[in-house]
Amino acid sequence: MSPTLSQKYLSTRGAEYGLSFEDVVLKGLSSDGGLFIPEEIPALPASWETEWRDLTFEELAFEIMSLYVSRDEIPADDLKDIIQRSYSTFRHAERTPLVDLEKDLHLLELFHGPTFAFKDVALQLLGNTFEYFLTRMNAGKTGKDRHHLTVVGATSGDTGSAAIYGLRGKKDISVSILYPNGKVSKIQEAQMTSVLDPNVHNLRVEGSFDDCQDIVKALFADKDFNTTHNIAAVNSINWCRILAQMTYYFHSYFSLIKSPAYNKGSKVRVVVPSGNFGDILAGWFAKKMGLPADKLVIATNENDILDRFFRSGGHYTKKALDAPADHGVKETHSPAMDILVSSNFERLLWFLSYQSATTGSAEERRQHACDSVSGWLNDLKTNGGFQVPSAVLEGAKVDFESERVSNDETIATIRDIYSTSFPKGLTAGSAKSSKTGGYILDPHSAVGVAASRRSIARNPGAAHISLSTAHPAKFASAVDLALRSENGYDFTEILPQEFIGIEQRESRVTDVGREAGWQGVKEIVKAEVEQELQGLR
Ligand SMILES: *Cc1c(COP(=O)(O)O)cnc(C)c1O
Repeated sequence: MSPTLSQKYLSTRGAEYGLSFEDVVLKGLSSDGGLFIPEEIPALPASWETEWRDLTFEELAFEIMSLYVSRDEIPADDLKDIIQRSYSTFRHAERTPLVDLEKDLHLLELFHGPTFAFKDVALQLLGNTFEYFLTRMNAGKTGKDRHHLTVVGATSGDTGSAAIYGLRGKKDISVSILYPNGKVSKIQEAQMTSVLDPNVHNLRVEGSFDDCQDIVKALFADKDFNTTHNIAAVNSINWCRILAQMTYYFHSYFSLIKSPAYNKGSKVRVVVPSGNFGDILAGWFAKKMGLPADKLVIATNENDILDRFFRSGGHYTKKALDAPADHGVKETHSPAMDILVSSNFERLLWFLSYQSATTGSAEERRQHACDSVSGWLNDLKTNGGFQVPSAVLEGAKVDFESERVSNDETIATIRDIYSTSFPKGLTAGSAKSSKTGGYILDPHSAVGVAASRRSIARNPGAAHISLSTAHPAKFASAVDLALRSENGYDFTEILPQEFIGIEQRESRVTDVGREAGWQGVKEIVKAEVEQELQGLR
C-alpha cells in the first residue's frame, strides 16, 4: 500500500479538476452539472489476494478507501475510526454475509444495517465522513462562525431513512428529507418520522416523487440559499457512497472462494439489481482495480433504460422506441429501481470514452471524454436520448451484461425461492420464514435472483454472487402478493424485532401542500434549521 498516494478528482464534464476527496464529498455535484470521478483508478497491491483474504469488513474498507483518499486528507487512524463507527451499527458480525441459496447462486445480504437496505453501507460512512470534515473545519469556533451543512434530499423510500440514520444527532448538520405522501411504504415512512433528533426534519409533500426531486433541484439551483445554508447532497451521485460500496464486492468475493460450495477455479459473476447505477458502478471500479469478476450483470425491472442500452446497440433513451408519447416512470414492485435515467451511468460513459480514444496524450483523451459526455448528456436533456460510438458500447460489453425482469417474474421468483430454498445456518436477522425456514426475497433482490438464474443457465458452472439490497419486511405488499396463497403464510414470519410497533411510535413530520412550491419548502427548511440552532445555542 502506498501511504504517499495523492488521489485527485475531476468532473465528468470538465469544468472542475484537481479536487480533493473533501471537496467532492462536500460538493456532491459539480458546478457544471457533472459527477466527480477519480483521476486514476488505482490498481490493487500485488499480493492483495493473500494479504486481504482474511480481513474483516472494516479492515477491507480501510485498505480500499486508502487507495482513494490521500493520507494527508484523512490520517490512517482517523480513517480507521470513521470506518469502525460506521459499521458497528450493523447487526451481523460479518456485516454483509453471503448465503448459499441454490447451486451456483450465492446471495449477498446487504440489509443488516440500521434501516434494513443496502444504502446503509454507504450512508453510515457518508454521515461520519461529513461529521469528520466539519469537526476539523470548526475546531476552536464556538458561535455563528461554525460551518453548518444543510442536507436536503428527496426519497421514494430507502434513501431517506438511510440518510436520516446516517446523520441523526450529528453536530453542525441538519437533514431535511422530502417524500411523497402516500407513495412510500408504511414501514419506510415510520422509519423516517419516528426519528426525533432535533437535526432531522421530515417533509411530507403532496405530490409525486418527481415533484419532490424537482423541489430539491430548485433548492440546489438557488445560489443565495446555497451560500447562506451550505446545501449538501446525499443521493447516489455523492462519490463517497460509490467508494463505500466497493468493500462488499471484495468481501463477498473472499466469502465465496472460502466457501465449501465454491468449486476452485470457477468463474465469478456478480448480479446487481440496478436503478441509478450506483451500486453496480462500485462493482465496476472493483473489477477495474483487479477483482477477478468475469462479468457484472445489470438486473433492471420494467424501467429498463440500461437493458435497452445494451440490446439496442448503444442507444441510451428515456423511452423505448415503441413507447407511447406520454411514457414516464412505471410503478413496479421494486420501487427503489423505478427510474427513467440512471444518473451514475455518466461516470461509466466517461471512462469508456476515455479508453476508446486510443491516441493522444492523457490530457487530450481526458478532454475528449469530458466533451463527449457533455454532448451526450445535453442530447439526453434536449432530445431524450443519444447514441454512443461502437467502441464505447464494446467497452461496456467487456465488463457488463444486462437482464430485464418483469413484474410478474419478480413475484414468481419470490414465491419459488420461498418454497424451494431452505438455506442453513442463518442468523436471527436473516430473511427466512420463522415457520417453514423458506427464504424470503424482497422484490428488488428477486429481480437480481431472476436475472442470476438466467445467467446460470447460460454459464453452467460459473459461481454467481447475487446482491440482496433490502430486507423483505420493508416491502410487505409485494411479498404478501407473492406468498399469500402459500400454505398459512403470514407477514409476521419475517418481521424483524426492530419493526414491531414502529408505526405507533411518536413521530414528527411537516406537511407540505401543493401550493407551497419550492419557495414554500425553502422557507420551511430555513425556519426549521433556524429553530434547531436556536435550541442548541
Ligand atoms: C437504491 C436501491 C436499489 C438500486 O440501487 P442503485 O444504486 O440506484 O442502482 C436497489 N434496491 C434497493 C432496495 C434500493 O434501495
